[in-house]
Amino acid sequence: MILRIRYRSGEDEVSERVISNPEVEPPNMIHAHCHLRGEKRSFSLSRIEKAVDFVSGKIIEDVWQYFGLPSRKPLPATMPTFPERPNPMPTEKAQQQRKAEKLALFRPFRFLVIAEVRRTKLWALFDNRCYRCKSPEALELDHHIPQYLGGRLVPGNIVVLCSRCNLSKSESHPRSFYSHEQLAKLDCLLKAEVQLFDFRFDVARWHHHPREYLLSLGVSDADAEHALRDQDHPLFVGWNAELERSK
Ligand SMILES: [Zn+2]
Repeated sequence: MILRIRYRSGEDEVSERVISNPEVEPPNMIHAHCHLRGEKRSFSLSRIEKAVDFVSGKIIEDVWQYFGLPSRKPLPATMPTFPERPNPMPTEKAQQQRKAEKLALFRPFRFLVIAEVRRTKLWALFDNRCYRCKSPEALELDHHIPQYLGGRLVPGNIVVLCSRCNLSKSESHPRSFYSHEQLAKLDCLLKAEVQLFDFRFDVARWHHHPREYLLSLGVSDADAEHALRDQDHPLFVGWNAELERSK
């Protein structure tokens, strides 16, 4: 679930933001990934002045009801459409940002050997094929909500597309690129994607028994061996990790 909201902060500053995967905390809070800040933030429902479902384009007239809470403050039924290009960004800056986002995406897994397992699962979630044309060739990670509309390469906003579809999607809004049916199915996949990236490295388990910990995360026997013993292998966890373990 991705929403675009107009939000009035406690300091009375108004901003327009894209938020995804909101979790409700009654009576009046939601916690969601804020694409503007690049992290999970808390929002008070009473401070959301306007809201729109970003993918369907549907105006949310009552956010309370929308999140399954007793209605309190219906939003106005008419709402000006958001500008098509709210965050124009110079190409070079956009490229740098994409690179940084890609690095940040897998950083929580700490070691390449763990990140690779999740990367494989991410591809598998999309059946190892382009979501649009089903080609298995030249697959890429696409920003579902495009970067210039404030979308970031974060769990819940990543779709596997082939390079041709990615190019033809370019900066289109998902609404104009996918069918209604494709969008509905994609919504489920993106939710599963958030779960897939929900990970916290367990330092205690790692220190206690590195091999067991790696295996429990789905690392194969052979890769665990490479990661822990094979200094010349790209999956080797490195001397820092060894030092950490001996502490
Ligand atoms: Zn394709």
